[in-house]
Amino acid sequence: MKGMDFAPGFRDNGRMSEIPPDMLAETTDSAASDSADLRMVAIILAAGQSSRMGDGPEKQFRRLNGRSVTAHAVSAFCEHPAVTQIIIVCAAERAADLTASLGDLADDPRLKITGGGVRRQDSVLAGLKAADPSAATLVAIHDAARPVLPRAVIDRLLTAMHDGAAAALPVMPVVDTLKAISGTAVDGTAVDGTVDRSGLAVAQTPQVFHLADILSLHQAHDTDTEITDDIQLIEASGRPVITVQGDRRLMKLTTAEDFDILETLIRTAEGSDQMIPDIRVGNGFDVHRFSDGPGPARIGGIDVPSAHSLAAHSDGDVGLHALCDAIFGALGDGDIGTHFPPSDDRWKNADSADFLTFAVQRVAARGAIIQHLDLTLICETPKIGPHRAAMQQRIASLAGLSPERVGVKATTSEKLGFTGRGEGIAAQATATLVFRSLADGGTHGK
Ligand code: MG
Repeated sequence: MKGMDFAPGFRDNGRMSEIPPDMLAETTDSAASDSADLRMVAIILAAGQSSRMGDGPEKQFRRLNGRSVTAHAVSAFCEHPAVTQIIIVCAAERAADLTASLGDLADDPRLKITGGGVRRQDSVLAGLKAADPSAATLVAIHDAARPVLPRAVIDRLLTAMHDGAAAALPVMPVVDTLKAISGTAVDGTAVDGTVDRSGLAVAQTPQVFHLADILSLHQAHDTDTEITDDIQLIEASGRPVITVQGDRRLMKLTTAEDFDILETLIRTAEGSDQMIPDIRVGNGFDVHRFSDGPGPARIGGIDVPSAHSLAAHSDGDVGLHALCDAIFGALGDGDIGTHFPPSDDRWKNADSADFLTFAVQRVAARGAIIQHLDLTLICETPKIGPHRAAMQQRIASLAGLSPERVGVKATTSEKLGFTGRGEGIAAQATATLVFRSLADGGTHGK
């Protein structure tokens, strides 16, 4: 994923990110940059041997909705603009399998795969040593077995680091009552008592550190003591570790049952991401000749000074007729003649504004909204330019739109054809509608 976007407006499911873009700005001044530079290396631990998943491949290679567990975790970091490097630590003999399991993500130039050790802390140290400290000052250490990593969690962690934390981790409150039991087996064990859960939280990953800091702490650590969680090292140093709100979806894939839950979660989330906005564009065209009678001519909903009026069963508003047909076209709902037949005396000398109002009501009835209307008038006479703004206002008002969602343009046909000879006026129009209702027979609800 080249060309990281540091511009304002990067989004998380339509919400603005919590990280202001200036916090991602490039800084070179080392003292000042420690808090301001939020560029980050991501280390993903995928070296584990799963023991509670039953038969089949290790959990980091299992597929969730067509993508490996590790690939899901990798993609969350690939999509974040603060991430400069992604290091996956796996068993050295499985590096080729791991690369294959990543699919297209393996082509990301930020990606690096390195061999891990026997214990978690050995793998973390291998990952930290593989990190490029010239590209980032922070590091996120994450377990591949947490494949659903919402962007908002990464943003909250970066905010905590920006605010001066020595390390930050996502936590969840303990919602269940905690019991002390006398053995390790869940079934058939005696309860010793109830544990006070106030002041307790469940730790998740990724956990974020200053890269140089956690590297030196790991290197200095007594290698015989097992570390299950890197935050412990910062805690021991007495500096501030700050928690941020975790996310239930960030659950750790441990049992076959967890796998089913995450499969459903990912399928639902990816299904909604793939929803395509239901935008429909219609076009309309109309012509009216000039009558022998005097002006004005009704065009675009207003009376325009003209030698002659337009000949028609209705008021002959060629512009509004083209707009109506554009809307009917986008609705797949016949044309202006279907709804207002010239043979019907009810529409004799009708105000075409009523036709447009009717078309707009048809849009609303279908659960759609008009995003934009665009009209082009083609004539030698009368001059449209002086009346363009009034037409735009009138059409916007009839359609319930702001004027900037209405275009009115005029052109001549260079004296060619019936418009060039001044025999009449032609109009063409475009309507852009967005459907948001399942009731319309659309495929989704956006
Ligand atoms: Mg007409």
